[in-house]
Amino acid sequence: MATHTACSENGCKGQVPAALEAVHLCMLHFTLKVENDCAQMRRETVYGKTPHARQVEIIRFIADHGEMLARASTSGIHLADEMKARVLNTFLTLMNLRENLDRAALRQPIGRSS
Ligand SMILES: [Zn+2]
Repeated sequence: MATHTACSENGCKGQVPAALEAVHLCMLHFTLKVENDCAQMRRETVYGKTPHARQVEIIRFIADHGEMLARASTSGIHLADEMKARVLNTFLTLMNLRENLDRAALRQPIGRSS
């Protein structure tokens, strides 16, 4: 189901799925935003020194955006094959970021703070 909300990206005429109404983004711009945010968080967490509170925030981001993406892409709106592939790729990015977060945490020596 699509809404009448316009995508907040300048000049974009893309339809905003109901599941993405809160962020005012069409599927394309939502996936681009998530990819972008994930890349940034990936850089932020790569050394395994991310504070616990921030890690919790990132884990929540991954879960929330994965859910929004799942709801939007299974809501029955028409998606071109290219967009379906993009959605799958964004899921992969979210999963990999989550996995890397755990790996980074494991590298962190316990009981030692730097
Ligand atoms: Zn858009």
